[in-house]
Amino acid sequence: ATPVAFMGGMSSAAKLNVIIKDGGVLEVLARVRAVAFDKTGTLTEGKADVVEIHPAARTVDETLQLAAAAEQYSVHVFADPIVASARTQQLELPEVVTVDEVATNGVLASLADGTSVRVGKPSFIEEVTGPIDRPVLSAGETAVYVSVGDELAGVIILSDPIREQSADTVSRLRRAGVAEIAMVTGDITSTAESVAHAVDIQTVHAETTPQTKVRIVQAMRPRPVLMVGDGINDAPVLAAADVGVAMAGRGATVASESAAAVITSNDIARVADVAYVSRRTVQIAL
Ligand code: ADP
Ligand code: MG
Repeated sequence: ATPVAFMGGMSSAAKLNVIIKDGGVLEVLARVRAVAFDKTGTLTEGKADVVEIHPAARTVDETLQLAAAAEQYSVHVFADPIVASARTQQLELPEVVTVDEVATNGVLASLADGTSVRVGKPSFIEEVTGPIDRPVLSAGETAVYVSVGDELAGVIILSDPIREQSADTVSRLRRAGVAEIAMVTGDITSTAESVAHAVDIQTVHAETTPQTKVRIVQAMRPRPVLMVGDGINDAPVLAAADVGVAMAGRGATVASESAAAVITSNDIARVADVAYVSRRTVQIAL
């Protein structure tokens, strides 16, 4: 393999807004036969919008106020729309004393008045509320649960549209010889499966943690595995995969640091483009 060919490959990739950190990455990428995709912010746009709020122990406005107070310091893709929605409605946010981001679960905040607020996935909320009903969601929708003390305050329904290019990217990777494609997400099974179905991915691993994402990708070997992700929760798996590719969006800094390559244009089609570039480069280099 000649370094010159790799430099050519890296510059072709750079023209596609894919920053490859070292030429050796192209060689591994050319041999990749298994790909794992994160869902939220990777296969989906990561530009969610609040669609509606189902009140429970609190009103619609109170639910949004509590959630926005807890989310204002979070970089999760659901934090922005929740905070923006509260701001648009000119709701005052209660004062927050401490906030903890619990990876793949949500956020946990203590308010100045001593109450504790959780915002996130149902299992995380049920730790304090006990069993809660799940709303029926349409495709492209996801639910964020809000608790206050030990009560369910309400449920925020967000739209998180699938990227227009996701299905095509999956099919181009298959045509490039990728035998195994999986989704590895922290989200709940029902939402994960509806997105997987829409982009034609059959293997779905839902409710994963940053650590189980690593184990799932390791189990996809001995084929070299490419992982594509965007979030803080993807940093360990991006580092552990044979090639980690980060989608650069908000909060993607940690993901980008752990990845071998970064898509700076936030365009998922680049995953397939760079796979083709790597195959061409290695043919030339050999
Ligand atoms: P993925 O692995 O698909 O990127 P994440 O692990 O980022 O998904 O999120 C999975 C689920 O965790 C979300 O669907 C949401 O329910 C919950 N979650 C995680 N962090 C937050 C947060 N800051 N605010 C609200 N929900 C969150
Ligand atoms: Mg994600």
